Amino acid sequence: MDVDVCIVGAGPVGGSLACRLAVEGLRVAIVDRADLPPMEHPDFDGRAYAIAAGPKKLLEEAGIWQALPLSSCPIEDILVTDGRPGEPASSLFLEFTRADANQPFGWMVEARALRVALNATLHNMPNITVLAPAEVKVVRKPEGAIVHLQDGRSFRASLVVAADGRKSRLRSESGIPLTKLSYGQTAIVCAIAHEFPHDNGALEHFLPAGPFAQLPMAGTEEHPYLSAIVWSDKDALAQRFADLPNDVFAREVERRMGNHRLGKVTPVGRRWVYPLSAQYAQRYTDTRLLLVGDAAHGIHPIAGQGLNLGFRDIIALSDILVTAHSRGDDLGAPALLACYQARCRPANMLMLAATDTLDRLFSNDNPIIRLARDIGIVGVHRLPKLRKAFVKHAMGL
Ligand SMILES: Cc1cc2nc3c(=O)[nH]c(=O)nc-3n(C[C@H](O)[C@H](O)[C@H](O)COP(=O)(O)OP(=O)(O)OC[C@H]3O[C@@H](n4cnc5c(N)ncnc54)[C@H](O)[C@@H]3O)c2cc1C
Repeated sequence: MDVDVCIVGAGPVGGSLACRLAVEGLRVAIVDRADLPPMEHPDFDGRAYAIAAGPKKLLEEAGIWQALPLSSCPIEDILVTDGRPGEPASSLFLEFTRADANQPFGWMVEARALRVALNATLHNMPNITVLAPAEVKVVRKPEGAIVHLQDGRSFRASLVVAADGRKSRLRSESGIPLTKLSYGQTAIVCAIAHEFPHDNGALEHFLPAGPFAQLPMAGTEEHPYLSAIVWSDKDALAQRFADLPNDVFAREVERRMGNHRLGKVTPVGRRWVYPLSAQYAQRYTDTRLLLVGDAAHGIHPIAGQGLNLGFRDIIALSDILVTAHSRGDDLGAPALLACYQARCRPANMLMLAATDTLDRLFSNDNPIIRLARDIGIVGVHRLPKLRKAFVKHAMGL
């Protein structure tokens, strides 16, 4: 079963790449060390992704969006405010409204729904070979790559794509250097039910210990008004907050909203805790190897763009590979790999720098910096052209 492309890692980025390439007729093998059951419908776990408009189109083209088993929720309004816990938000704010774009800014999709849709699509495509649970050993030479399975089987691939996440084994085995930036922050992620509807509105409230985000989710019968929260706080405190009993946790969440537009909140489901850091690979290529998604870059979740960056890698890469395949070119040729890196790495580095600066500027209680950023917030709010430019970029259009 020799293939054109072998993808290691069937997370949202690797899985989407496999489906997108298979739709265009490429032969793909995808390997994941976790099992990828096609029909499993896990229980609600409160984690969700904000998927921007450009990546949504990619998921549609790959046949994944249509397979989502649960409704997504459009984000049609984003309020950006600044404040301190327990205090109302500063009166200077920035709001992106429906008038700033001719479609929703993004869609909130439950992580379990994306996983179910991805796995089902991977198993349904005739030219994808799914190898999971499995680990592989890859031998890459200028003339081609050989992928060895633990059971002794092996196959050839023109190109190997590392989509194996932040701790990518393929990246470290190839000796590609990685740079890491620490934030001293940990994110608490969970779902909350609330008293009043969110009207498809999201909130980014900047607090001295880190940003607090509320993202609208599609309601359920039990909880008609539901949102996801990503609450970043100092490492030393986050786990203690996450372990609070429900009523105290709810009060702490309400103290961090900066307004009362959602009314009383109730935590729903499990709470997840993620230490935050940014990281970037010094290069995205090696002999017959490419890095994509979190294997290539990881950023602060302040703007909900981490996965979207990975999807943008896939949009560029599938375009390059499909064109090369239609011409009968070698998919692992150094010039082609260099073309991918040139298209993606500068834009990804820019996003990493922007989210890093935003976090350092806003997770700060210095009065002069507070004043400067409040002026910045209101400045962008009052300049519709600048607002629209921000929106267009974040939507990946
Ligand atoms: C708190 C938090 C909130 C976030 N919120 C958002 C958001 O709202 N929007 C957004 O766009 N992004 C968000 N992100 C970022 C997002 O979660 C990641 O960018 C995304 O999961 C990366 O996808 P991936 O497919 O590259 O990697 P992963 O999701 O890490 O998938 C890697 C896959 O590779 C497999 N694997 C690993 N090693 C091996 C191996 N050796 N062999 C075989 N298989 C292997 C794993 O089993 C896994 O399936 C958030 C991140 C955090 C921490």
